[in-house]
Amino acid sequence: MELIDTHTHLESIEQIDEALIRAEQVGITKIITMGVDQKSNLWVLNESTQHTRPNLKIYPSLGIHPGWIDEQRVDVDLKFIEENIDQIIAVGEIGLDYWYKAVRKDEQKKNLQRQTFRRLLEIAKKHKKPVSIHSRGAWTDCVDTVIEIGVKKAVFHWFTGSLNDLNKLLDKGYYVSATPALSYSKEHISIIENTPLDRILLETDSPVTYQGETSEPSHVLKALHYVAELKKEKEETAAQITTENAKRIFGF
Ligand SMILES: [Zn+2]
Repeated sequence: MELIDTHTHLESIEQIDEALIRAEQVGITKIITMGVDQKSNLWVLNESTQHTRPNLKIYPSLGIHPGWIDEQRVDVDLKFIEENIDQIIAVGEIGLDYWYKAVRKDEQKKNLQRQTFRRLLEIAKKHKKPVSIHSRGAWTDCVDTVIEIGVKKAVFHWFTGSLNDLNKLLDKGYYVSATPALSYSKEHISIIENTPLDRILLETDSPVTYQGETSEPSHVLKALHYVAELKKEKEETAAQITTENAKRIFGF
């Protein structure tokens, strides 16, 4: 089985090399690691690929996470991403997040997120890069913005929005990625049930914690397990199709 973890934060994983050995052992051949702010983007660009293994390649993606926008530096951070665009597989993690209490009722904070997201989408569009999108609590705005800007290739990571939003993004040819949260999240399960297998990617968002357990890329097997179960396919078939999907969108 060949697997691809399409969304991780490797710089936050303790004992990264041991985790990557385990990832290689379960058949993961490619991992995309996401930048979320200046510090993380520097690590992703300059250090992540040093952890590549004989059969497991690390691919950098640069972005600004909606929860980590620094208004004073946003121009510099955007410039940094565009200057290094040829060295990255995708633009991400980018998006909108209205979930944070401090943001929910603050139009100014939402506007900063929206402006930054739009500028990042424009960069991706101009340079024909796929995007990895965070949309928690802002699903409709996110889907509508990506459609409006007209980015060609988009993955809505760990998507938990409404079926209406899902259908809009599927109509445009976009993808969603499935995480180990399929073991408990009703919203995420419903999304995967309603998405055809040829539009699903696998990911872990490592090292995010799922019900008390810290994740690592080898846990992409859990995402695979639940996707196969929900789509009533063998794990081998689900692995093959989701890996083909990842190769198609990211152009590996
Ligand atoms: Zn993430």
